[in-house]
Amino acid sequence: AVAVRLRGVTKCYRQGVRALGPLDLDVAAGEFVALLGPSGCGKSTALRLIAGLAKPSSGTVELNAHPAARRGEHAIGFVFQEPTLMPWASVRGNVALPLRLAKAPRAEIAARVDDALTRVGLRDAAEALPRELSGGMKMRVSLARALVTDPDILLMDEPFAALDEITRFRLNNDLLTLWRELRKTVIFVTHSVFESVYLSQRVIVMTPKPGRIAAEFHVASDEPRD
Ligand code: ADP
Ligand code: ADP
Repeated sequence: AVAVRLRGVTKCYRQGVRALGPLDLDVAAGEFVALLGPSGCGKSTALRLIAGLAKPSSGTVELNAHPAARRGEHAIGFVFQEPTLMPWASVRGNVALPLRLAKAPRAEIAARVDDALTRVGLRDAAEALPRELSGGMKMRVSLARALVTDPDILLMDEPFAALDEITRFRLNNDLLTLWRELRKTVIFVTHSVFESVYLSQRVIVMTPKPGRIAAEFHVASDEPRD
């Protein structure tokens, strides 16, 4: 099944200046795709269009064969480069936010938050405040918050770019483990060739602005991926 389908998608921020596209893209359900391209080519814009946070100037975006604008509330989890945590709330409180906004029952919130924190390795830090956390831990909170609603599609916008190399590598490994367990559709934006090849099943290389697909290739793996 196709989870994400873009057809003839462009985005112009100012009259006549195209920042992205035209872009045709199909991402299969459960696939892990990396979007690789130079700064300013429109990778973040592409994710925002897929998330329904912005409208394309032309073309169509479909999620699970429905227009993106009419997607279900929890179809998508988004992880930004900045963890953007509420500083006054504990790790648990930050991860619970999307469920609170959706007015989920208390018991369900507690169970789902515990599950998400366990998955990202933060069970013992549940009561900590963001200022007590390292950059890597903050990113784990951000990932847990994106997963807590059990979205079909996970969009990640250069999530580990600000982390030191060792932390980044640990997070890469943990993200891979998570993906193998959960089989979410993942679109992962990165500047890193290493990261794109290490994590994904398919690397999509974009041209400089306005970003179009310059090349794509499937990543060979010596491990069974399904
Ligand atoms: P990338 O994520 O690949 O770095 P972006 O999607 O952030 O690229 O931006 C693509 C282009 O569109 C850039 O030239 C950027 O300056 C421009 N752009 C992005 N967002 C806006 C906006 N809200 N208003 C005007 N221009 C924007
Ligand atoms: P990235 O880290 O993906 O390169 P940017 O730093 O290009 O992101 O953009 C960060 C934010 O600033 C985005 O929300 C984008 O919409 C906005 N932005 C980027 N370029 C412009 C611009 N030229 N005018 C207005 N907003 C912009």
